[in-house]
Amino acid sequence: MAGREMAVAGLVNPDFGLNQTFLQSLDNEEQRVKAKARYYFLFMGTARLSMPISILAALEKGTHDLSTRQSLSISLIGAGGMETAGLWVFEELLHLLPALQTLNLMFIGPANKISPSDSSDGKGDVTECENCAECVFSNKRRFWSLYGGLYHDYVNTSYYQKPDLAVLFHSGRAESAVKDWAPTTRFLVDSGTLTLCTTWTKREAREEEIELDQLGARFITRPEKNRWRSLVPLPDFLEGADNEAYYVNYYQYMFQGKLRTV
Ligand SMILES: [Zn+2]
Repeated sequence: MAGREMAVAGLVNPDFGLNQTFLQSLDNEEQRVKAKARYYFLFMGTARLSMPISILAALEKGTHDLSTRQSLSISLIGAGGMETAGLWVFEELLHLLPALQTLNLMFIGPANKISPSDSSDGKGDVTECENCAECVFSNKRRFWSLYGGLYHDYVNTSYYQKPDLAVLFHSGRAESAVKDWAPTTRFLVDSGTLTLCTTWTKREAREEEIELDQLGARFITRPEKNRWRSLVPLPDFLEGADNEAYYVNYYQYMFQGKLRTV
């Protein structure tokens, strides 16, 4: 059993509810400490799990045939360490979508550090990921590729395929590298790509919303607090009021295509 499975063994039921029988059986200090450690593990895990669960919620909103889809392709744009280090966590999509057999993940962004030990070469070649025994038994497969460049350059390569969902986790595109991001944002709108964006703060989300309104984008959801954000608060020293916090994937919104020709 993998370490992360051992940490929650007995505490969490297959339907994700807490095992009350197990909890009530804890009657000594050592067991209570173990339970607390397991709770802490689950709590911290929400930061990484926020990625696939936010994606799943977006697919439910934007894809009419999700329950029967056997294949999905997802482009993570502006992807960096958070996404690539969490590559394993996207396997949860295979677990949560029973019909899904093949998951293709594309990580695209200039921040990707390519080292000789990487299994992907950073130029878009596809590599198959190792999955858990249940996925192997069900012949569920997960592939990933890494492209170390800008998305609007990537779309001109032979690797490009319009994804079922494009995701920008905390792109910060209204704040830094604004000129680099502008053609990517325009392409996503013009190509009618279903797109999910998250931000650290409400202000960032509002700035990005203004840019998209100027492009005539059709919003599926306007910026709102993301129900599936991380539960781990991060103190906001820079611009928040006293005791204010922000979270991984705090705000989210979605768009696809245009409202009108602009
Ligand atoms: Zn699996």
